[in-house]
Amino acid sequence: VPARLTRAHAAELDAADPLAALRDRFVLPKEVRYLDGNSLGALPVGVAEAVAAAVSSQWGQHLIGGWNADGWWEAPRRVAARIAPLVGAVPGEVTVADSTSVNLYKLLVAGLRLQPGRKVIVTDPDNFPTDLYLINEVAATFGGAVRHARPADLVGALDASVAIVAYTEVDYRSGERTAMDAVTALAHQVGALMLWDLSHSVGAFPVDLGRADADLAVGCSYKYLNGGPGAPAWLFVNRRHLDRFHQPLVGWTGHADPFAFDPTYHPGQGIDRARTGTPAVLSLVALEAALEVFDGVDLAAVEAKGRALGDFFIELTDTRLKPYGLEVASPRDATRRGNHVSLAHPGAYPMVQALIDRGVVGDFRAPNLARFGFGPLYTRFVDVWAAVDTFVEVLASGAWQDTRYQDRAPVT
Ligand SMILES: *Cc1c(COP(=O)(O)O)cnc(C)c1O
Repeated sequence: VPARLTRAHAAELDAADPLAALRDRFVLPKEVRYLDGNSLGALPVGVAEAVAAAVSSQWGQHLIGGWNADGWWEAPRRVAARIAPLVGAVPGEVTVADSTSVNLYKLLVAGLRLQPGRKVIVTDPDNFPTDLYLINEVAATFGGAVRHARPADLVGALDASVAIVAYTEVDYRSGERTAMDAVTALAHQVGALMLWDLSHSVGAFPVDLGRADADLAVGCSYKYLNGGPGAPAWLFVNRRHLDRFHQPLVGWTGHADPFAFDPTYHPGQGIDRARTGTPAVLSLVALEAALEVFDGVDLAAVEAKGRALGDFFIELTDTRLKPYGLEVASPRDATRRGNHVSLAHPGAYPMVQALIDRGVVGDFRAPNLARFGFGPLYTRFVDVWAAVDTFVEVLASGAWQDTRYQDRAPVT
C-alpha cells in the first residue's frame, strides 16, 4: 500500500486540518464513521439543550406568551439572517419556512407569474424527483410546459418562450456540480429566470447567489446545515423581484398585517410574503442553535476540506475497492463535484447495509449506488480511511452477501 494511503497518513492529514477542532462541536456516537451528512447532518452540541429549554421553560412555563417573550414570532427572520450569508444573499432575500418541496412550488408558480407570455420551464431530466414532480404539476396547473435538458445541453433548449430554468446545483446521485454563474448567465441571455435547488450545496461550500445574480433558490436545512430531521427549509427571492413576487400558498403569516385578521389577502413586506402559516417553532429553535457552528467558519476552507476528503476516498477506492468491482460514479475533478462520492456496483444495497452494521454509515441510491458524504465540519480523514478499510473487509469476507442485508427498509 502506498504511504499516502495508510492510516498514518490519514492521521497526518487530520493533524494538519485547520477545521479539525470543529468536530468537538458535534455529538457523534463513538466508533461510528458517519458518511451521511448529505442526507442528515450530525447533531451539533447545544441543540438538545436549546430544544429542551424551548419545550420546558418556554412552552411549559410561558405558554402562548412564548410568541412574544421568547421571540418565536421572529424566529424565521433570525434564522434567515443566519442562512443568508451562507448563500450570498442579503437577509431581506431569504426566509425560512415549510419544506424544500413546498418552497419549490411557491417559487415555480411565482416565477411563471413574473414571466407573462412565457410558459416553458426547463429542467434536468435527472433532477431530484421532488423537483421533477413539482415542475410537471405546476406546468399542468398553470398553463406551462416542461422542456428537459441537462445543464451541458442548456443552450439548445433556450429561447424566448422559456420562463424559468430550474436546476439543482449538486446532483444527488453522482455529486456532479453545475457551474452556477455560467448557467445563470445563459438563462438570463434569453430573459429566463434562474431557479436553483441548493439542497446539497448550502453549508458544504460557499454559495454566492448574489454573484451569480440568480433569481430564485431553495434548499434544505437538515443536510449540511445540520438543522435536524425535518428542519424547516429556506427560500431565496432576488430583491429585484420582491415587489412583484406573488406565490400561490398565501396564508395569514405572509399577510402584510397578520394580526389585523383582514378577510382579504394583502402580501407582506418583502420576503415575508413568501410565508404561509405558523412557523415550526421547535424545529426553528433546533436549526438556530445548529447554525451557531458556522459562526466565524471560512466556507472556502470547508470546501477545500470537502474536496480533499472526497479525493482521499476516491484514491483509496481506486486502490482497494476497485479490485472488487466498485467503480467511482462521481466526477474525479473535485472542482466539478459536490461533497459526496458515489460508487457503482449491482450489490450496492446489501454492501451499504453490511457497512452500517459495522458502524460505517453511508446510504444507497437506486439503482446501484453506494453514496458517501463528507460533512467537512466533522468528518476526519481517519474516518474515510477506516470506512474504506471496513469496506474491504466486508468485500473480502463476502459478508455483504448475507441474506439479512437484502431486506429493503422504507428509508434507504
Ligand atoms: C434533499 C433534497 C430535497 C428534499 O426536499 P424535502 O421537501 O425536504 O423533502 C429536495 N431537493 C433536493 C435536490 C434534495 O437533495
